[in-house]
Amino acid sequence: MKPGRAVAFGKSAAQYLVGCVRHTVTAKPRVEPGDAGLLEAVKQWQQVFEHNPVMYFMVDPAGTVMNVNTFGAAQLGYTPAELIGRSVLDVFFEEDRATVRACIALCLETVDQSHTWEIRKVRKDGSVLWVRENAKTMLRANGGPIVLVACENITERKEAENALRQSEAYLAQAQELSHTGSFGWKAATREITWSKETYRIFQCDEGTKPKISFMLARIHPDDRLAVQQTTARAAREGKDYDHEYRLVMPDGSIKYVRAVARATRDASGQLEFVGSVTDITATKEAERRLRDSEQRFRDYAETASDWFWETGPDHRVTRISEHSDTNTAPAGLIGLTRWDIAPDADLEPEKWRQHRAALDAHIPFRDLVYRSKDRNGQPIYVRTSGKPFFDADGTFLGYRGVCTDVTAAIRADQAEDALRKAQAELAHVTRVTTLGELTASIAHEINQPLAAVIANADACLAWLQRSPPDLKAARRSVEWIIEDGKRASDVIRHVRALAKRSDIEMAPLDAGAVVREAVALVQREMASHAVSVRMELSSTLPRIFGDRIQLQQVLINLIKNGIEAMEGIDDRPRELAIRSATDDNGAVLVSVSDCGAGIDEQAMDRLFMPFFTTKSSGMGMGLSICRSIIEAHGGRLSAMPNQEHGATFQITLPLHREDAS
Ligand code: ADP
Repeated sequence: MKPGRAVAFGKSAAQYLVGCVRHTVTAKPRVEPGDAGLLEAVKQWQQVFEHNPVMYFMVDPAGTVMNVNTFGAAQLGYTPAELIGRSVLDVFFEEDRATVRACIALCLETVDQSHTWEIRKVRKDGSVLWVRENAKTMLRANGGPIVLVACENITERKEAENALRQSEAYLAQAQELSHTGSFGWKAATREITWSKETYRIFQCDEGTKPKISFMLARIHPDDRLAVQQTTARAAREGKDYDHEYRLVMPDGSIKYVRAVARATRDASGQLEFVGSVTDITATKEAERRLRDSEQRFRDYAETASDWFWETGPDHRVTRISEHSDTNTAPAGLIGLTRWDIAPDADLEPEKWRQHRAALDAHIPFRDLVYRSKDRNGQPIYVRTSGKPFFDADGTFLGYRGVCTDVTAAIRADQAEDALRKAQAELAHVTRVTTLGELTASIAHEINQPLAAVIANADACLAWLQRSPPDLKAARRSVEWIIEDGKRASDVIRHVRALAKRSDIEMAPLDAGAVVREAVALVQREMASHAVSVRMELSSTLPRIFGDRIQLQQVLINLIKNGIEAMEGIDDRPRELAIRSATDDNGAVLVSVSDCGAGIDEQAMDRLFMPFFTTKSSGMGMGLSICRSIIEAHGGRLSAMPNQEHGATFQITLPLHREDAS
């Protein structure tokens, strides 16, 4: 507490008092017993001193209490006797004692000058007593200084002040937390007062007086006029106002604020607005984000060809989106259930039973496909997914979901199925046709081992007829018979497999073996056409995944085409090269190259078209079937002219998945 000059101090009374005290306390009364009038006066003043509701202390330069009036001692819970002779510091808090010493020192330095300060004292019971002290050093008769202190109890005021300060602090904190400042605005004098938070919101130095010009400068130029109009009207009509506007902060950022003010009258009857100003930037941002995301979903919904539906707790349609002219959302569904409208409800009872069980269990469902009708009553296929929704208490309210018209996709699937079937049939027919054409080759393939069987059987008989029979040689002959028999039966099994109408059987295959088996069937065909075959098969080929019969059909077809392409060639050896390799991606390549007539450019584009043929007896289906077989395997079939003579047909097949991983 800083000691300051006393503004008012009962000077004459104090001086007189000190005079009296000089007599009564510091020096024992030296009033003669006969001086009755004076004695009476001293007594009276002593009464005043003792019971005047002001606390008086007399303290010597060392801080020892020389005297204290009864009132003063009682205020602190003591009797005067308990305090006299003690250090005055005893009635102060430890932490305030340095201040007290400084105050006393100041008084001692400035004899006859009054000083005043406010400080806490501590009562005997430990409670606090706030006092306003008025002190002055006076010189005693013997010239020694004494500090006279008069104190007034200001505890109540201090407590009120503290309470006020505290509630102000709470308010400031609440304002800060809620980003809400308060303000007062006297319309007549244009005087404005702001709370700390309002200063913060406007980013204005708290020391400066808020001015309308400053506020206007802060307000976004586009909002300025509206703010001026609102406040001017409020001032004119003496009415409350509530408005939002933007501030442009010194760093260029935008702040949204909402100001709400109530019109009141001050003590002098003048119009005054008291209000709050809230920083609503975060709310505005959140609102904007919400709006954006809502708009985003609306955009998606409006551009989607899907439609959205909502059903109630009884699963009857309550809402259906009708945002687009192009959508096929059926009309007139409100109030109906899904199974009311689906013509397949009776045909597929199990599907619908499961669906209704899911709905009754209030669990989400996905990709239910059913038949329905479009706006024009045309049958359509619909795929729908939905999820249940509930109110805040968890009560089931219904389902929301989306429907897609999948008619085209389903029709395409059906068409593809039909096409696949037709292709398989055709592949089978052409395979059988090819086998027919290959009868000579096949017969040769079977005849060769059969001839060997007969020869070996003859030999065996001859070995047995010897005397003694050469059993060892006979056994060898029988072993050869068995081997050749197996070879013949393998060929027959293979031909039967090719001729059989079987479903496609995808399996991991050794590409080399598939090629070799196919070549075996056309060996004779090649020989009869004076065609030699060169096999360049990689020994490290990974396995492929496919249908053995179909792949062999493709190879036989390509080989046969190669043989036919070389038919008229007499000026060079008729050679067919069959190669296998892997490409950079690890896919398996098998190629068949001939040195025949080659393919002219116009034919190149049409080779794989059904019924394209340049042969008098050709059907033109071979390559088209080959390509569809290879594509069904996830591969590619391509043709390219060779550099010198002839053409190369190349098959690219993906790896068997497990081997690839
Ligand atoms: P087809 O053999 O019944 O004509 P393909 O679909 O197998 O039917 O062949 C279509 C056409 O492609 C043949 O007529 C021929 O003109 C051409 N072609 C096929 N393979 C070769 C080849 N290796 N060299 C040149 N032309 C070929």
